[in-house]
Amino acid sequence: MRRGILLWNSLLSTMSRPLLHSRAQSLSLGCPSSVSRKRLHTVAAAAPVAGERRAKANVDWDSLGFGLKDVAETMYVSEWTPDKGWDQGKLVPYGPITIMPSAQVLNYGQGIFEGMKAQESAKGRVVVFRPDQNAARFKAGAARMSMPAVPEEQFVEAVKSTVAANLDYVPPIGKGSLYLRPLLLGTGPILGLGPAPSYTFTIFAAAVGAYFKGGQLTPIDLIVEERFHRAAPGGMGGTKAAGNYSPVLVTQLEAKKNGFSDVVYLDAKTDTYLEEVSSCNIFVVKGRTIKTPPLQGTILPGVTRRSIVELARSRGYDVREEPVTVHEAMEADEVFTTGTAVVVSSVGSMVYRGQRRQYTEPGQAGKVALEMYSNLTDIQTERADDNFGWVVPIN
Ligand SMILES: *Cc1c(COP(=O)(O)O)cnc(C)c1O
Repeated sequence: MRRGILLWNSLLSTMSRPLLHSRAQSLSLGCPSSVSRKRLHTVAAAAPVAGERRAKANVDWDSLGFGLKDVAETMYVSEWTPDKGWDQGKLVPYGPITIMPSAQVLNYGQGIFEGMKAQESAKGRVVVFRPDQNAARFKAGAARMSMPAVPEEQFVEAVKSTVAANLDYVPPIGKGSLYLRPLLLGTGPILGLGPAPSYTFTIFAAAVGAYFKGGQLTPIDLIVEERFHRAAPGGMGGTKAAGNYSPVLVTQLEAKKNGFSDVVYLDAKTDTYLEEVSSCNIFVVKGRTIKTPPLQGTILPGVTRRSIVELARSRGYDVREEPVTVHEAMEADEVFTTGTAVVVSSVGSMVYRGQRRQYTEPGQAGKVALEMYSNLTDIQTERADDNFGWVVPIN
């Protein structure tokens, strides 16, 4: 597999690459952020930068948003067939994948995704964060959706080669990251309900901005949702399945119209316990105790969630994965959410049944959120020692 990729790489670097940047799309999936929607003032020309990789991409590092404006030129594609299993995978120019209208994923939704980031680190190299965790989640998701799992080793290698092929799209440290979007799709045609006869594993990438440019987390305002649920016991809420994400739009869009960043979902059985936000996990803080809802199948097992649990424990917090009632959350000192894109988002306020709980001073992030954000981002960008072994270098 490696030789094939290397061959393609050298081929690519000798070709003059066509510009395949697509138009800016609406905000991609990611935790809510008040900053991301307010584009900062565009700086006309990028300052001269060191290193070959930055000179290549025609990207204005200072005006990166969270979208597809600066989609990377090279993507990874691997195909699965029943007789051959997964092929070696190859790197190809970013572009359409051709599938039939009868593709399983278009009819019955056999599709899962991942979200990861590659960043330039303080050591001057490009690193990814805990790719083994995404590989394991991708495998578990494939099982839940009756798809052939991508071997974890192939997943990690595919991530690494996608980043390596797009190094010139990795923003300078502090300016953002190369967001990676692995997909596993039932692309083969089928009419009756059943699993697809063939599958595609692909990874595309895009340069995206830092959510919090000044390093200051702008708090978000949330509302507790009581009419709709994100997931039900025994369902697929714990899977990053494509089908989980369009149903949250109806509540998310309404919340946004009313000035909120997103909604908090409650458990489908009792409407009592916090679950999570549309695409991030949630934590509540009281004194030195940090609680986050346990993983019981309805909550997405976030890599950031796991990392914050481990990090906070190592910093002496009493961290509990326990059910959290909405009343407890309303009385907490602090609430924050976690996800790959934002890392940590401080919750400024939460509204439940018309009652508003203000956690922080306007515009000010919560103390614990700030501590977790800086500690985790310091590890992710190698500003601090990585005692956990989470960071994986690409180059
Ligand atoms: C992706 C996702 C998260 C966050 O997971 P990370 O691995 O931390 O990015 C949380 N909740 C939902 C519903 C998600 O899809």
